[in-house]
Amino acid sequence: MDAALARAWVSAVAASVASQAELLTQLDAAIGDSDHGVNLNRGFTAVLAALDSASFETPGEVLVRTGTTLVSKVGGASGPLYGSAFRALGKALGSSSTVDAAAFGAGLRAGLDAVRKLGGAAPGDKTMVDAYEPAVAAFEKAAGDGLAAAARAAADAAAEGMRATTPLQARKGRASYLGERSVGHQDPGATSTWLVFEALAAAAA
Ligand code: ADP
Ligand code: MG
Repeated sequence: MDAALARAWVSAVAASVASQAELLTQLDAAIGDSDHGVNLNRGFTAVLAALDSASFETPGEVLVRTGTTLVSKVGGASGPLYGSAFRALGKALGSSSTVDAAAFGAGLRAGLDAVRKLGGAAPGDKTMVDAYEPAVAAFEKAAGDGLAAAARAAADAAAEGMRATTPLQARKGRASYLGERSVGHQDPGATSTWLVFEALAAAAA
């Protein structure tokens, strides 16, 4: 992973969030406040502008700038959570101009730790953690096969984790206010996390 690939990944996330904004908003309408697609689309539009206005030597710089922009531009729970994840990932990559799959996996794990620390959610609470945690585990397991294979495995695990949120009752975030009525709906944040890992798999392929 180098600066160009980090940029390609973030651009792919932005494109995916833009094309799936309606889906994310519909999922959030069922168990939240109908703004998840709007929030992320606003955030990643600002990220594209921020990345276009500067040049970056390392993947870490690209991802730290992505995170910082998300934190400052997105209201709602998801902005600070995704922002912290990208920032922690970028920081973990350090100042290397190229990082291998194992180092990138460690960075993804640092991002997950940041989300869990900030949001306090554990696996099974029906949040983005339910897609992110299995994705990181699958990435780490496949890291020896290279970035593209690890990213593909991570995206597949994220999809499974996302689908597994449907029968869960939410214990964190806005959806938790619904109690048992949150059961039977797929979590919006787990869905956007799947998009993030699909974009990584596509960019790395
Ligand atoms: P808001 O809930 O403020 O309207 P969004 O709609 O943008 O923010 O994002 C909602 C998503 O954020 C949820 O579907 C869930 O996946 C995620 N989320 C909410 N709270 C937490 C938390 N404490 N930890 C992890 N993820 C969370
Ligand atoms: Mg919302």
